[in-house]
Amino acid sequence: MITKLIQRIFRRSPRAKLTQSAAAGAPKRISKKAHRIDPQLLSKNAVKVTHTLQQAGYQAYIVGGAVRDLALGIGPKDFDVATNATPEQVQKLFRKSRLIGRRFQIVHVTFFGKERPEIIEVSTFRALLENAGDHVADSGRILRDNVWGTQVEDATRRDFTINAMYYDPATETVLDYHGGMADMQQRTLRMIGDPSKRYREDPVRMLRAIRFAAKTGFTLSPETRAPIAKLAKLIHDVPAARLFDEILKLLMSGYSWQAIQGLREAGLHHGVLPMLDAALDPKAGVPGNEAFIRLALSNTDERIQNGKGVSAGFLFATLLWPELLSTWQKNLAAGMPNIAALHAAMDDVIATQSKGMMIQRRFEADMREIWALQPRFDKRIGRFPQRMLELPRFRAGYDFMLLRCATGERPESLGQWWTRFIDADPVQQEALLAAVKEEVSLSGAGGPASKRRRRRKPKAAAPGPDQAAAD
Ligand code: ATP
Ligand code: MG
Repeated sequence: MITKLIQRIFRRSPRAKLTQSAAAGAPKRISKKAHRIDPQLLSKNAVKVTHTLQQAGYQAYIVGGAVRDLALGIGPKDFDVATNATPEQVQKLFRKSRLIGRRFQIVHVTFFGKERPEIIEVSTFRALLENAGDHVADSGRILRDNVWGTQVEDATRRDFTINAMYYDPATETVLDYHGGMADMQQRTLRMIGDPSKRYREDPVRMLRAIRFAAKTGFTLSPETRAPIAKLAKLIHDVPAARLFDEILKLLMSGYSWQAIQGLREAGLHHGVLPMLDAALDPKAGVPGNEAFIRLALSNTDERIQNGKGVSAGFLFATLLWPELLSTWQKNLAAGMPNIAALHAAMDDVIATQSKGMMIQRRFEADMREIWALQPRFDKRIGRFPQRMLELPRFRAGYDFMLLRCATGERPESLGQWWTRFIDADPVQQEALLAAVKEEVSLSGAGGPASKRRRRRKPKAAAPGPDQAAAD
């Protein structure tokens, strides 16, 4: 009791100091001529939200990553609005709105348009942490964050200076509390406040630093980068679901390869993606592993940059594949039949991964399906290929198999065969199947099942046609 009281008193005193200093630093008002944000890039719905709130007498601004992207001339992928209205007051103004989150309450306002619905996230200005009392763990990590404050406080609570700018669509003015615009010009990512303290409050900010650096090409300021090496281990305190969300954002940023390099350079990858550690470790590295992951990630980045969807299950399936492959091979060498060896390897790999970052169940199911399809691509006999085409996850499995061909793990001809087979009519399909038979009898190896191959020791070969056929 008494310790808590003392802690509270101590927490309060620096707050008073901080509030004063923050209040003393009024925001820089940046006019349209200086920020050159193109209003065409604004979401009409986000503007509707700020307008409605302002009409009701509240302050309301577009904030965060949207302003950063707008100032960079990029169309933001989503829009956040900050206001001094409480979540309940926001909800009263918008019919299609929902209060979400516990740790960090916000209101989702949904707009249904011709295309997919757009959600505008509306958050109430947060008070400085020192005002949050029991909501902070002893380590300094924020547990709950629902104490409302002023805009000045809200700006100080944000992570990077370039993420703490507020844009008012009505006046086309940017309010910049922490020199975000200057940092933007210098292409610098700078943490607001004392970086060590901010990372302790929320270790996810270390991952965000790496993600934004990869996405914008900006450099972390030296004092923003310095504490990361020492504090990297705090990532383990982050609840699994939140860590997963953040890693997913990083992988889906469109700059995943750079981001992963950034994680490695910062020493942040350990334990988050343990399998990736092994695959990308230059000492333990199996030749070809890095190539596979690199190709998978650059494929993903390209799709995202071209506005195409990417499935998280597919992505994790690729990241864990090199490890899965080597475990599968070990199991085969130990004498397990092919498919059993594959499934045992899946269990193993997923269990090891779960020690680092839990992958959500629904994605895990996708990964397993994609992996389980792989040996079936080698079964090019009878009705098997046609049946494959009808499987719901065929497309993902096929894309995955093409990656394996592209890195030389499977022959290019296998991928080409399936590419032709998918578009072939029944007569052409028969011809393709006949061609496989021919190929096999000529080469005397690979391809469909044969009694002769079945008896071969599974040990010698990599998982592929021989073993697939044998099961
Ligand atoms: P993205 O382009 O990924 O959406 P973003 O900067 O908009 O990037 P969000 O996660 O959408 O990121 O968060 C919106 C804003 O909320 C951020 O720009 C930042 O101001 C603030 N914010 C988000 N997460 C944190 C955090 N962990 N600590 C401090 N501020 C944060
Ligand atoms: Mg955002």
